[in-house]
Amino acid sequence: MRPHVIVNAAMSADGKLSTRERRQVKISGAQDFNRVDRLKAGSDAVMVGIGTVLADDPSLTVKAEECRNNRIHRGADEQPVRIVVDSRARIPPDASVLHKGTGKRIVAVSERADKEKIARLRELATVIIAGKDRVDLVQLMDELGDTGIQRVMVEGGGTLIASLIAAGLVDEIYTFIGNIVIGGKDAPTLADGEGFVREPEFCRLTLIEARKLEQGVLLHWTVDRPA
Ligand code: NAP
Repeated sequence: MRPHVIVNAAMSADGKLSTRERRQVKISGAQDFNRVDRLKAGSDAVMVGIGTVLADDPSLTVKAEECRNNRIHRGADEQPVRIVVDSRARIPPDASVLHKGTGKRIVAVSERADKEKIARLRELATVIIAGKDRVDLVQLMDELGDTGIQRVMVEGGGTLIASLIAAGLVDEIYTFIGNIVIGGKDAPTLADGEGFVREPEFCRLTLIEARKLEQGVLLHWTVDRPA
C-alpha cells in the first residue's frame, strides 16, 4: 500500500520558502522546530528533493534524544529513513544526509542517471531507479510502500511538493507562516513547478487547525480527494 504522505514547510508571510537565491532563511522558532522534530520522529521516512539538498545540505535527522529513544522503544530505527529524489544522481558524496545520524538512506533516481554515479552512490545508500527522465513519484511511493514504509514526511522543496500534489500523492499539509516578508517573484513557494491552470486541477484542502505559534501561525490541512 502507498504510504501516507505529510508535507511540512515553513513559509514567510508572503508565502516564500527561501530567498530568490535559494538561501535558507530562519522562518520559525524553537516551538515550531520541536513540532517538526516530533513530526519527523513519528514518520517512517523523511523525503526531500535534490534542490533542497544542494541548497541547504540538511541531515534530515531527528534531533531530540527523547524522540529518538521513543522510536527505539517502539521497535523502530533510531532515525527515519532519509530519502532524496534526485533524477540524475547529482547528490554530492559528502552530503550530510548520507552521513549524519544512523540508519538507512534511499536515493531515488531515474533511468537517465549515470551508471557509474549510481554504482558509487550504492556504497552510501540504497538506490531506487524509478522513471525515465525524472523520478516517477507514483512508482517510487509504491516501492516505498512495498518495503514497509507507511508514513512519509516531505520537507520540501517547492518543486518536489508541486509534483507530489499534482500526482495526488499528498494526504496532509502543515504550513508554518512566519512573521517575515522575503519577497521576490522567483523565490521558492510551497508548490512551484508548472502550476495548475483551472478546475478540477486545483488541489482543494480542508482546514483541520489554525493555531498561533510564537510569532506565526501553524496551519494543518488535509487534501480533499475527488469524489
Ligand atoms: P526541491 O523541490 O528540493 O528539488 C527539486 C528537484 O528534485 C528537481 O529540480 C528535480 O531535479 C528533482 N526531481 C526529480 N524527480 C522529480 C519529480 N518527479 N518532481 C519534482 N522534482 C523532481 O528543490 P527546490 O524547489 O529548488 O527547493 C529548494 C529550495 O527550497 C531551497 O531554497 C530551500 O532552502 C527551500 N526549502 C525551504 C523549506 C522550508 O520549509 N522553508 C523546506 C525545504 C526547502 P533533477 O531533475 O535533477 O532530479
